[in-house]
Amino acid sequence: MTRIIDGNEVADGITAALEDSIEELKSAGVTPSLATVLMSDDGASETYVSMKQRTCEELGIDGIHHQLDASAPAEELFDVVDELNADPDVNGILVQMPVPDHVDNAAVLRRIEPMKDVDGFHPENVGRLVAGDPRFKPCTPHGVQKLLEAADVETEGAEAVVVGRSDIVGKPMANLLIQKAPGGNATTTVCHSRTKDLAEKTREADIVIAAAGYPELIDGSMIGEGAVVIDVGVNRVEADTEKGYKLVGDVDFESAKPVAGAITPVPGGVGPMTIAMLMYNTVKAASIQSGVDVELP
Ligand code: NAD
Repeated sequence: MTRIIDGNEVADGITAALEDSIEELKSAGVTPSLATVLMSDDGASETYVSMKQRTCEELGIDGIHHQLDASAPAEELFDVVDELNADPDVNGILVQMPVPDHVDNAAVLRRIEPMKDVDGFHPENVGRLVAGDPRFKPCTPHGVQKLLEAADVETEGAEAVVVGRSDIVGKPMANLLIQKAPGGNATTTVCHSRTKDLAEKTREADIVIAAAGYPELIDGSMIGEGAVVIDVGVNRVEADTEKGYKLVGDVDFESAKPVAGAITPVPGGVGPMTIAMLMYNTVKAASIQSGVDVELP
C-alpha cells in the first residue's frame, strides 16, 4: 500500500511545538515578529503572503505587512528593507518573490540583513548552508527534509534525484541532501531542463524530489518501484472549476501513486511545510537576536 505523506499533519506538529518555543520567548519578554513585503499585484503572491501572515497570527508571532505598488521605483522597496533591517522590533524579513522586472532580484536578497533573512536566500546564509553550518535553511527544502524525517525515510546512502536547480528549491535541496548531517548523506543527482534523459535518472532513485514547475512532468513510468516521491510543484492548469483553474504538482499523482512506496499530494504536501518552516526560522531569528535560547522542533 502506498503511503500518502500528509504535509498538513506534519506541519501542524511543527507549529504546535513552535507554540511552546514562542511561549518560552514571550515569558522572557520577547515576541517574535515577521515583516512581509509584497511588491506585486499577482493573485498567487498575495495568497502566499496572506497565508504566512495568518499563520503568524495563529501562533502569536507579530506580523507586519508592507504593500508596495508593482510600478513603484526599486528605491522604495530598498527603503522599506533598510527600515526593517534597522528596526529592533523586527526579527524576520521576507520579500515575496518574484519582484517586478525593473527591480534587481539579487540586489533585494543582498539588501536584507543576514540575521533577519528568514528565507535563507542572502549569499551569507547560502554560503553557510553549503559550508555545512546553516543559520536559516530555506523553508521549502527544509520542509521537505522534515517531511522525509517524519515519514521515517532514510536519506543516508539513498539515491536521491532532485528535479530542478533553482536557487530557492533545487539547489538548496540538493545541498541539504549531501550534507554530512541528519537528513543528508544521500547520493544526490540534480536534474534540470538540459538533462538528457530525465526518466533514466528518476527511475534509479530511491527518493525523487520534483521541483521543476512543469505540470505532471513525472509520471508512474518514470518512478522506480517503491520510491519515495516528494512533489514540490504547484502549477495552475485550466480546469472546469469556479476559478477556471486547478492546482497540480510536477508529478502525475494518479499514475505515480501505485508505483511509489510513499508520495506527497498537491495540495496538502510540501506547501504547508514551507509555511511551518518560515515560522521556525522566525522563531530561530528571535532567539538568536535576543540571546534567549529556546528548543526548536
Ligand atoms: P524555477 O522555475 O525557478 O525552477 C525550475 C527548475 O526546474 C529549473 O532549474 C529548470 O532547469 C528545471 N526544469 C524545468 N523544466 C524541466 C524539465 N522538463 N525537466 C527537468 N528539469 C526541468 O521554479 P522553482 O521556484 O524552483 O519552483 C519549482 C516548482 O515548485 C514550481 O511549481 C513552484 O510553484 C513550486 N514551489 C512550491 C513551493 C511550496 O511551498 N510548495 C515553494 C516554492 C516553489
